[in-house]
Amino acid sequence: MTLHRSALLRSLAALCLMPMLAVPACFAWGKDGHKMINHLAVTSLPASIPAFLRSPAAVDEITYLGPEPDRWRSPAEPELDAMQAPDHYIDMELADRIAPLPRERYQYIAKLYAYIEAHPDQAREMQPTHIGFQPYITEEVWERLKSAMRDYRQLKAAGKDTMPVQQAIIFYAGWLGHYVADGSQPLHTTIEYNGWVGPNPNHYTTSHHIHSQFESEFVHDNMTDAEVRQYMKPVEPIGDEWTQYWAYLNTTHADVDEVYQLWNEHGFEGKGTAESRKFTAERLAAGADELRNLIVAAWVKSAEPVPEWHDHYDKKDKK
Ligand SMILES: [Zn+2]
Repeated sequence: MTLHRSALLRSLAALCLMPMLAVPACFAWGKDGHKMINHLAVTSLPASIPAFLRSPAAVDEITYLGPEPDRWRSPAEPELDAMQAPDHYIDMELADRIAPLPRERYQYIAKLYAYIEAHPDQAREMQPTHIGFQPYITEEVWERLKSAMRDYRQLKAAGKDTMPVQQAIIFYAGWLGHYVADGSQPLHTTIEYNGWVGPNPNHYTTSHHIHSQFESEFVHDNMTDAEVRQYMKPVEPIGDEWTQYWAYLNTTHADVDEVYQLWNEHGFEGKGTAESRKFTAERLAAGADELRNLIVAAWVKSAEPVPEWHDHYDKKDKK
């Protein structure tokens, strides 16, 4: 039976707190991978993005914020940990059972519970917190970023002080980076997140070490900005961000088998292999590309007119 993820996260969190353990970081890309993705994204922003967001101080802050939501997983703040842990992943095999997924978090939860009502035998695995909210938190933080950028434009046009909103934008961009980075780690998109479960014709490992060995220890020991940067692509415009982000997650998910294959070939031990290094660098680069493209898209779309309030509220059952 699959180890329940919250139990896994708790045990990983406990391991992270053990001072004697030589593991540099835990959770999705570890601290190093998250900092690297945020750093590479913000240092590759085009000149069309306001200069304050490309300043050395902003680069430092956004880099620091890469692992920020993992800092919220400490047992010192158990309520915060419990609330936001499912934001870091989505089990796409399970989410597909209710496709197409609604864009709003609470509609997604409602659809899952409606599914559970019709399929009570799947009640445990179809719990929203078990499947995860990865694309939802990404969309929500991206919209916060776009909202702050719109306010920046308005304050600047009015000749007012923009320093406070600049700080908000830098925070949102860094926070967003965490989830976008999680979305480039194949093991954050699958029920096979830490050791293979179910039918196993390829004899993939069932070890519960594969997750942290790949994303934390191997990245810490082997990856550099320079190695990852060579796989980054030019800026690509984003149309509908929800649709585009799902395409990104699907690309990531298609690499789940590759992680297990490389593990079987000892690709994440020591210096790894040429294949495992390229694979890992490409995954990190995909995260940096996506974050940079989403920041650019937020800036472009922050200039779009806002729908009238009455239209917005007419559609919703607001209190
Ligand atoms: Zn995470």
